[in-house]
Amino acid sequence: MSFVITTPLYYVNDKPHLGSVYTTIICDSIARYKRLKGEDVMFITGVDEHGLKIQRTANEKGIEPKTHCDEISEIFTINWKNWDISFDKFIRTSSKSHESVVNEFYERVKESNDIYMGVQKGWYCVGCEEFKDNPENSATYKCPIHQKNLEWKNEENLFFRLSKYQKQIEKIISEPSFIEPIERRNEIVNFVSKGLKDFSISRTNVSWGIPVPGHLNHTFYVWFDALLGYVSAISSNETESSLEMSINAGWPADIHLIGKDILRFHAVYWPAMLISAGMRVPKKVLGHGFLTREGQKMGKSLGNVLDPDQLLSRYGNDPVRWYLIKDISLGSDGDFQDKRFVDIINNDLANTIGNLLNRTSSMSRKWFDNKVPNNEKISTNNKLENFAKIAVEKYMHNFEIYKLDHAANEVLNLAINTNLYLNDNQPWLLVKEKDNLPFVKEIIYAVLESTRIIGLLLLPLLPELSSKINEQLGSIYKKEIPWEEQLRWGLLISNSSLPKPTPIINKLEYE
Ligand SMILES: [Zn+2]
Repeated sequence: MSFVITTPLYYVNDKPHLGSVYTTIICDSIARYKRLKGEDVMFITGVDEHGLKIQRTANEKGIEPKTHCDEISEIFTINWKNWDISFDKFIRTSSKSHESVVNEFYERVKESNDIYMGVQKGWYCVGCEEFKDNPENSATYKCPIHQKNLEWKNEENLFFRLSKYQKQIEKIISEPSFIEPIERRNEIVNFVSKGLKDFSISRTNVSWGIPVPGHLNHTFYVWFDALLGYVSAISSNETESSLEMSINAGWPADIHLIGKDILRFHAVYWPAMLISAGMRVPKKVLGHGFLTREGQKMGKSLGNVLDPDQLLSRYGNDPVRWYLIKDISLGSDGDFQDKRFVDIINNDLANTIGNLLNRTSSMSRKWFDNKVPNNEKISTNNKLENFAKIAVEKYMHNFEIYKLDHAANEVLNLAINTNLYLNDNQPWLLVKEKDNLPFVKEIIYAVLESTRIIGLLLLPLLPELSSKINEQLGSIYKKEIPWEEQLRWGLLISNSSLPKPTPIINKLEYE
C-alpha cells in the first residue's frame, strides 16, 4: 500500500510565493515522516497550466502560453530543488499523458450520464477561475482574494451534474476525518446544505486548454482538468498514462494538502467527479490557513510581499522550515514577523539545540578524551531517559494526526529538558571529585544520547540540521535500520570517538 500525498498543482501565473513554499514544506515533512515509518510514499506536486488567466498573462508578455508555462514550470522545479523538497512526481497539466487521462475520465463521466449542454450566466473572477454566487452590485464588486472586478459571462457550456451527488457528498463530508480542521469542515457542510448546483466544465472563449472531444471550440474548464493532475501524476511517465494505471499504482490520495481558498473544489466537486467516473475519493482534504506579514495581507499593491528566494538565500532552509512548521498551527492562519522569526530561530535552534550540542560535546572532549563516556547507569531510573521516551511517543502521536507544530515542540521540549538536566546535576562541579566519576559519565552519556534522539526526531522537520547534529555525535541515521528502532534509548556507542566540532547553526541578526 502506498501513501499518496499532494500539494496543490500551483497555478503558473507567477513563480512560487511564500504560501506555496509553506504548503510544499509541510507536505515534504509529512512525506519524509511517512518514509521514515517505512511507508511506500508517493509525494506529488506540479503545476496547473491552463486557463484564461495564463492565456492573458502570456499575451501580455507577448509570448505563447506554452513558452510562458515552460519558463514558470522550470522555475518551480528549480525552487523545489533549492528548498530540498523530496517530491516523487512533478506533473504538468500541459503534458500529453495528462491530456489522455482527462479525455478518458471525461468519457467515463459522460457514460454515467453526468454531462449535458447548458447556458452559463454569471459573474466570474478570472483570478479564481470561478463563478461567484450572486454578490451584491456585481459590476463594482471586487473579488476579496484578487481585488479585481468580476466579469459577466453568458455562454454555452457543458455541465456536470453535481446536484445528483448531493446525498453522497453529504455522507462523505460528514466523516470527521475527511475535511480538517473542523472549522473548514463546518464551512463546507454549510455550503453543501444549501443544495449543490451543477457546474460548467467547458469554456468556449479559452483556447489555452484541453479540447473537449466532439465539441469544437470547447476546452475543459481549468479546474476539471487540473484536479485530474493528481490522478495522472501517479501513472505519468514519458509516453503514456491511464486511469487504470493510476488506480493500480496507488489512487486514491491519502491527503490533499491545500489552502483554504480552494477547499470547495477539493472537498465537493472533486469527490463527485470521481464517484461519477467510478473511482475512489481521496481519504483526507487538509485545508491550511493564509499567511500574512506583520499582521497584514501580503500584496503587490502594499509592497510587502515576502520573497521566499530572498528568505532562503539569507537564512537558509532550516530556519525558514522551523518557523513555518513550528510557529503556525496547521489549519490556522499564520503571520510572518521578522523580529519574531529571528527570536524563534535564535532561541530554539541556536540557544537551545545548538548550545546543548556545543556544551556537551565540549565536556566530553575535555573529560573523556574526545569520546562518548561509558553508559554507567548509576541511577535506577534516569530522569532524562524517561523524558526522552515520553517525548518520542508524543511526537509520533502528533505527527500521525498532522499536528506538526506540536511534534516540533516535543523536540524543542526535549532539548529544553536536557539542558535543565545538565544544569540541575552540575557535572562541572561533580567532576572535581574522583568518586563522582561514574555519575558524571552517566550524566554526560544521557545528555549525548538525548541529543542524538533530538537529531533523529528532526529528520522529517529539518533534514539538514538533523544530519549535522548526528554527524557531530558520530552517530548518523542508518537507512537500513528502521528509524523507530534507532530512536530507542541507549544506542549511542560507549567509548566511540566524537568528530571534530563544527558550528551547526548561526545566530541571526535582526535588522
Ligand atoms: Zn478571485
